[in-house]
Amino acid sequence: MAEQTFSIIKPDATRRNLTGKVNAVIEGAGLRIVAQRRIQMTRAQAEKFYEIHKERPFFGELVDFMISAPVVVQVLEGDNAVARYREAMGATNPAQAAEGTIRKLYAESVGENSVHGSDSADNAALEIVQFFKPEEIVG
Ligand code: ATP
Ligand code: MG
Repeated sequence: MAEQTFSIIKPDATRRNLTGKVNAVIEGAGLRIVAQRRIQMTRAQAEKFYEIHKERPFFGELVDFMISAPVVVQVLEGDNAVARYREAMGATNPAQAAEGTIRKLYAESVGENSVHGSDSADNAALEIVQFFKPEEIVG
């Protein structure tokens, strides 16, 4: 079943000019980039986006990181897009990520780990509307 997921290419990756390399892995995994925009996130946007982690000790550091440089927000579409992208991303900690995954190839640390991908279809829908209007998503 075709599904959509939400992706962010994080500041550590945009800073190193890795947007194209990350997109090559995404497309190689059979996912279509159906919306994409480079933005400077505001602190308010980053705090809302990672609200679920607000009690975690790394929350402040995470928000500071997410606004430290531009990010690329994306909507990806494909069969089982949520699970497919999580697999292509690899484990949160790059030291534990499988060969060939984005985080194994490019991430620098558990905090600066190059990409975000939604963890469920419900969260994907909630995240997509934070950054895209329906007419900006062209499948
Ligand atoms: P994301 O939600 O960004 O796709 P994830 O689902 O693999 O990543 P989460 O547990 O949701 O991981 O954590 C969200 C983000 O918070 C991580 O991607 C990472 O940037 C940061 N983070 C997670 N754990 C730590 C940690 N121990 N120290 C610093 N930052 C962390
Ligand atoms: Mg997560």
